[in-house]
Amino acid sequence: MHKVRVRFAPSPTGPLHIGGARSALFNYLYAVHQGGQLVLRIEDTDLERSKREYEEEIMTSLHWLGLSWDEGVDRGGPHSPYRQTERLSIYQDYVQELLDKDLAYPCFCTEEELEAEREALLAQGEMPRYSGKCRSLTEDERQAYQDSGHIPAIRFKVPENQVYVVHDLVRGQVTFESENEGDFIIMKSDGIPTYNFAVVIDDALMEITHVVRAEEHLANTPRQLMIYEALRFKRPEFAHISLILGEDRQKMSKRHGATSLIQYREMGYLPEALFNFLALLGWSPEGEEEILDHKQIADSFTLERVSRSPAVFDLDKLNWMNQQYVKRLDTQELNNRLQPFIAATAYAQQVEELSSEQLQWLMQAVRERLVCLKDIEQLLPIFFDEPKVEAEAGEVLSQPGVKQVLQTLSTHLPSTEDPDEYRQCIKAVVKELKLKAKDVFMPVRCALTGQVHGPDLHLIMAVWGLEETSRRLQKALERLED
Ligand code: GLU
Repeated sequence: MHKVRVRFAPSPTGPLHIGGARSALFNYLYAVHQGGQLVLRIEDTDLERSKREYEEEIMTSLHWLGLSWDEGVDRGGPHSPYRQTERLSIYQDYVQELLDKDLAYPCFCTEEELEAEREALLAQGEMPRYSGKCRSLTEDERQAYQDSGHIPAIRFKVPENQVYVVHDLVRGQVTFESENEGDFIIMKSDGIPTYNFAVVIDDALMEITHVVRAEEHLANTPRQLMIYEALRFKRPEFAHISLILGEDRQKMSKRHGATSLIQYREMGYLPEALFNFLALLGWSPEGEEEILDHKQIADSFTLERVSRSPAVFDLDKLNWMNQQYVKRLDTQELNNRLQPFIAATAYAQQVEELSSEQLQWLMQAVRERLVCLKDIEQLLPIFFDEPKVEAEAGEVLSQPGVKQVLQTLSTHLPSTEDPDEYRQCIKAVVKELKLKAKDVFMPVRCALTGQVHGPDLHLIMAVWGLEETSRRLQKALERLED
């Protein structure tokens, strides 16, 4: 049996979207599972919209997600080049072959003529498709056009009354009739091939065995099958994966929030969480477990378990999943991942000045409260700003007995900065004053941080250290005197 070869073939006309990332991921997983190879091909034939920056950005996003490939623009391979604009002479040769076999013909119709034809068909309530006008030009007529400086596009002659059947590995058997296709352009007058033509030449020459791509390309498949047949190429297997919908069941778009992978990275989603989440958008493992690492997913990934129904992008689930992954990071790793996010805040310097122990406690304190790494922005002020007493906290502090709690605490402050010692000193107050734990913890929290909620108090105190903790305590007592 031939080794499985799949490809991801983005058009570099924008950043990598969630849908593209999911297609790339499914190809990657299939290759890894099958012990096959993945090719990254850049389909940049839309000269106006394609940009090298996007190409770089797409590759950076894919690497960030944790994908790698065996052949591609950045690493070469036996089927180089992997960028379509560098393969123009190859397409030219195959166009010539089709022309020579009378399976394609030059078309001299102008944009205006084609538009008028389209309008007329639409007005009659018919599907617009090319009339085939230039199919029947005589050699002399063609020559006359050429002589008067017209440069033709090349159209493929769609065979009549043919039925094309795809045994799609996800969608099952899909049938298309050639009646519904007009002769289509395979090479524009500027010598640039169209997608449906170039994709076939490349998939065939690059020995792709399985074309795994988005459902929106299912409608292009009959045209591609015609080219496979005309050039006597062996056709690959096809697997068209379902759309990704927003929670309102409409096709995922900017309206639904962030759509590019880079945006998720910037918000502080972990790549391993997104990898896991995207894998479950349209594929499901056999068991119930949803938190699965790279290896577990690749080990069980098959196209049979890819769903035919659309996948719904559930942001709450992604958030939950990201949180699970954040919680699993050890403090050192969490610190590494948080660094760029901390560096972007006003507290970068203060965090840098913490001792390694304080930094550890800071990490322990924030870990449970982060959904995304960027949430660190909201968590740092409590550690470094002077407390601004919020209304709810003010109410707690106005209760009788608060002063006594704070005074007693000041007599119990520990002599070491171990978080556990801070916990013990608060407990000592509980014991001495014979109060409920919450009637001590709450006023202390409100007095020292100005807020009713926040990370574990003993960890915050450990990050402050003794001097700062007792300074805050004194200040709080002074405020109570006023
Ligand atoms: N360049 C096409 C796209 O980005 C690839 C389609 C395919 O995989 O055949 O949609």
